[in-house]
Amino acid sequence: MIDFCVLGSGVSGSTIANILSKKYSVQVFDKARGPGGRSSNKRFKNNLSFDHGVQYISPKTKLFTKYIKKLYKNNILKTWNENHLDFTFEKKTSSIKYIGKKANNDLAKYNLKNIKKSFSSPITKINFNKYFWEITLEDKSKYQFKSLILTCPFPQLKRLAKKYLNKKILKLKVQMQPNITVMIAFKNQKNLPISSIKFNDNILAWAANENSKKRFKSNLNLWTLQATINWSKKTINKYKIDKSIMSQLITRFIELTGFEKNKIIFKKIHGWKYSYNFQGTSYLSLWDKKYNLGICGDWLNGPKVENAWLSANDLAKKIK
Ligand SMILES: Cc1cc2nc3c(=O)[nH]c(=O)nc-3n(C[C@H](O)[C@H](O)[C@H](O)COP(=O)(O)OP(=O)(O)OC[C@H]3O[C@@H](n4cnc5c(N)ncnc54)[C@H](O)[C@@H]3O)c2cc1C
Repeated sequence: MIDFCVLGSGVSGSTIANILSKKYSVQVFDKARGPGGRSSNKRFKNNLSFDHGVQYISPKTKLFTKYIKKLYKNNILKTWNENHLDFTFEKKTSSIKYIGKKANNDLAKYNLKNIKKSFSSPITKINFNKYFWEITLEDKSKYQFKSLILTCPFPQLKRLAKKYLNKKILKLKVQMQPNITVMIAFKNQKNLPISSIKFNDNILAWAANENSKKRFKSNLNLWTLQATINWSKKTINKYKIDKSIMSQLITRFIELTGFEKNKIIFKKIHGWKYSYNFQGTSYLSLWDKKYNLGICGDWLNGPKVENAWLSANDLAKKIK
């Protein structure tokens, strides 16, 4: 029987799987088609590639900085430091921004390189049978493991594992904010020397110029647009049926930048229902010896890749 089942291949899932795999057998399951979770990358025909979740990593703590520098040295990450502008279009000076060499899920991919993993595999049921865990996938297949690690955001965790969480955890006030992201490609639009723009607007929060990440050669100009939290809250439950939501975000981008709308030849929208928990909780991770059940993820300690990584490392220490 495999020692650990890890639900989730995002930053926290891939990190804990990587650490545990040095000592134990591990298998990772993710409902998505590929690795990365909220740091994943969307690819479309004709070389179109967008980081539709995590934009960049700016490490703050000593531990995480050391780890990021190692990935940089190993050619997994690179820097993305050219022209990041605020809404006045003035150049902003700020800390170093790291991105994946090929895409922002490179970190998760690197962590999972030698680990058994199954994608398009949503775990729909978990059951502890006194000595081991039995997990059931959507296709009704069942697998057994000695221990289980759950890295999904809190609302999904509560739905799946309610029976095994103590009252204190169940009562946590965790509010995960949504995010609406739109990916667009322009034809014959001059690629300006701009990496990203931060807006002071009630609809559009941020736009990233994917071409400035210098990962691909294309005659198209690709932008990822991220909406403000307030506007995302209003639109997250209807963006799939209401096509005007994507148009509104694009129109605002056009108004604020002066780009030409008729040059847009590709557009796609993505809604992140559980993007960030800004408040965090008083926990970094959770390990329940009685059930051999571990919980980690950014929702416990803050809305960044760094928090997800720190949470996974904290859990690994508890397990050891
Ligand atoms: C739009 C957006 C922009 C962001 N920008 C930045 C940024 O620039 N910098 C930064 O540091 N952070 C950023 N963040 C935050 C960052 O994405 C997260 O902090 C981090 O990726 C969380 O990682 P995680 O592993 O904890 O969770 P997740 O990445 O959410 O991983 C959870 C995984 O569990 C899987 N899963 C869930 N339920 C099941 C199930 N039942 N069965 C199987 N699999 C399941 C999911 O598919 C997912 O892959 C951004 C987030 C969003 C949404």
